Order: sequence, then structure tokens, then C-alpha cells
Amino acid sequence: MARYIGPVCKLCRREGEKLFLKGARCMTPKCAVERRTYPPGQHGKDTQFRRGRASDYNAQLREKQKARRIYGILERQFRRYFYEAQRRPGLTGSNLLGLLETRLDNVIYRLGLAESRPHARQLVLHNHFDVNGVPTNIPSYIVRPGDEITVHGSSKNLKYFREIRAYLEDRPQPPEWLTIDVSGNEIVARMLRAPERRDIQLPLNEQLIVEYYSR
Ligand code: SF4
Repeated sequence: MARYIGPVCKLCRREGEKLFLKGARCMTPKCAVERRTYPPGQHGKDTQFRRGRASDYNAQLREKQKARRIYGILERQFRRYFYEAQRRPGLTGSNLLGLLETRLDNVIYRLGLAESRPHARQLVLHNHFDVNGVPTNIPSYIVRPGDEITVHGSSKNLKYFREIRAYLEDRPQPPEWLTIDVSGNEIVARMLRAPERRDIQLPLNEQLIVEYYSR
């Protein structure tokens, strides 16, 4: 599936908040949102002061774009997730966030095996993980409760995963719906249950996204 390959800090500046797309750099004063507090583009500085009250449509659009950018998904695929969320029983907005959270690249990020979602996506694409013992290199793969994620055999001894194992021993636990165990050179993670809305600590108002697609 295609992905955005342009400058990512520009996306944060467009949304006016940190979307944490660059890992460690996002925590430093080098973060573009902190250095330039106006939207990107030639007229970014002017529009910052000229804008009046945002319309409802604008609020809905910005919320949808923010969600897309956080999870690194292009419009067509995001719309497909929305239709799938609508088809499922329950609240469409919560279903949508639940679906996005269970993408394999997001699960790898939540487990602490990558420093950002784009980084997790790259690790998945480079065949570093197995799901239930099967090599899986599809970032959009939907992980289900009970699925087991392990580091692929030939990747276990890479310097990156040796360092990650040492890091994981001290890091706080992953979210409640995931578990991860490190023993020897093995990393075994499992999804315990589907994530609920309260588990997803993101500054997103999913109701606005539902309204955007329901116009
Ligand atoms: Fe966004 Fe991170 Fe770039 Fe800051 S450093 S603008 S949070 S991607």
C-alpha cells in the first residue's frame, strides 16, 4: 500500500500539534512544532493571524487528517477502515480507532519495539517479525486477540534487537491489551484483547471523523 514519503514535520505543523512521527527527535527542542509555531508554506505566518473561527467542516476535516497522519495512512485506505468500522456492531468512531490500533505496525510501536509508527512500519516491511510463527511483512495486517508476535529467527541477533532487549527490561509495561516477555534472545508479545476506547490515549475526537464521512 502506498504511503506518504514527504517531510513529516510539516504534517505536525499543519495540524498545529506534535504527532510524534520521528521518535526521539520529537522529545527534543529540535522539534519543528516548537521551533516554528505557524503552519507550513509560503503564507503560513500570515494565515496564522488571518484565520477567523473555524467552520464545522474544517474541524471535521482536520480531525480526520490528524488521525490519518498519526497512523500513516493515505485517504483511500483510511476511508476503507471507516466503512469497515461502520459495518461492525458498536460505535463507528470507537471501532475505527480500534481497527487502526490493531494494525501490525501500530502494535509493534505500542510494544516499544520501534521508536515511532513510521519506524515500526519499516521494521515490519523488512521482515523482522513473525505473527503466530508465520513471517509477516504487511504493516496493515490486523492483529487479533490471542495472536503471538515474535522476532523473526534471522533478526534476533541483529544489533538493533540486542539493544531493544536490554531496553525492554527497564521500560514501563505496554498498554493493558498487550503483553511482552523477554527471555534470553527471545521476544514474545501477545495481544490479550481488543483495545477499547479508554486504552487509546490519543488527542482525537473520533465523532468529528464520523461526521466528516457522514456528510
Ligand atoms: Fe512532529 Fe516529531 Fe517533527 Fe516534532 S519532531 S514536528 S513531533 S515529527
